[in-house]
Amino acid sequence: MSLDPSTAQLAAGIQSWLRCESPSSSPQGIAAMVAMVEQHAKELGLTAKVSSLGDTTGPLLHISNRAAGDQRKGLLLLGHLDTVHPVGTLLQNPCRIEGDRLYGPGSYDMKAGIYLALTALGQLSAPGATPLPVDFLLVPDEETGSHSSRQAIEQFAHQAHYVLVCEPARADGGRCVTARKGIGMMRLKAHGRPAHAGLQHEKGRSAIREMARQVLVLEAMTDYARGITVSVGTIAGGTVTNTVPSVCEAAVDFRVPDMAAADEVIGRMQALTPQDPDVRLEIQVELNRPPMVKTAAAAELLSRAQVCAAQAGFTLEDAPMTGGGSDANFTAALGIPTLDGLGADGDGAHTLNEYILVSTLSQRLVFWQKLLTSLGA
Ligand SMILES: [Zn+2]
Repeated sequence: MSLDPSTAQLAAGIQSWLRCESPSSSPQGIAAMVAMVEQHAKELGLTAKVSSLGDTTGPLLHISNRAAGDQRKGLLLLGHLDTVHPVGTLLQNPCRIEGDRLYGPGSYDMKAGIYLALTALGQLSAPGATPLPVDFLLVPDEETGSHSSRQAIEQFAHQAHYVLVCEPARADGGRCVTARKGIGMMRLKAHGRPAHAGLQHEKGRSAIREMARQVLVLEAMTDYARGITVSVGTIAGGTVTNTVPSVCEAAVDFRVPDMAAADEVIGRMQALTPQDPDVRLEIQVELNRPPMVKTAAAAELLSRAQVCAAQAGFTLEDAPMTGGGSDANFTAALGIPTLDGLGADGDGAHTLNEYILVSTLSQRLVFWQKLLTSLGA
């Protein structure tokens, strides 16, 4: 397929980013990626500042078209430069174009989306080119929960009228995202009593047996009709077959549609009691990402984005509430109107078949230009 020159340029730029592998687990890989994007932003006439978040994660990158001294509340764009793909995935999903598909690890989630938004912002680097000053924050740890970058995300969000997130557009028609479930994590540890499984079985108190019962209690908290899911994701216990196991540990994922459901589930988890009175339970529950609820202000922001999409030549719909979280959860929970899923169109997030649709790139670039130039205070 021969591409028009501007699409070919976008596709080439995106491919150069995909060849730099940047899994969340590789601070060096992310630092290399950040350096490449920083350099690119500066060449576009934008300011770019890298800051360290410590040794265990990659750095944070802040790009902006703010004129020096401009302290106004602005427009915040969010993206993450980490991917779920370990170094070497390029060998399994090589960066290439086949038909309308551009493949590569992190293409859809979410380097292409960032590339599009940055290209649009670069065309608007002159002071006053956008009604609001634009800050673009790129974090290194979204795929692992944004633990190191959350504070910066929230600080920037407080300085913004709106937040636009470059996560992938939904695969079924490029829809955007206005509502995401909240995501929680629970760690449950059962402490029983060890004993020789043959000589003194009756003296033992099995932590695994207790955990087996608790797993059923936990999973029974799932309520599909209300959009609540509780899933025991990992479990480990015991040491050898001939000892009654004294310790068993499980990690649990839970998703909730709103804060009332979050409070309810967390309360029920914290109130778990051992069914064997000789076993002790250790319970840790944390709501990692609060629910992103579609507010009236978010609906208003969506309708403005829909006008921009129409001008760019496509229809923008919003998807029903998704069970996947993103950094939009944090900013929406602060009450800042937030629109997500504005990145690239494609499919296969978190798989070895991840790709974007080349034919949508030009349109989506125009969409970003319209968004950045139309959103005022
Ligand atoms: Zn993502």
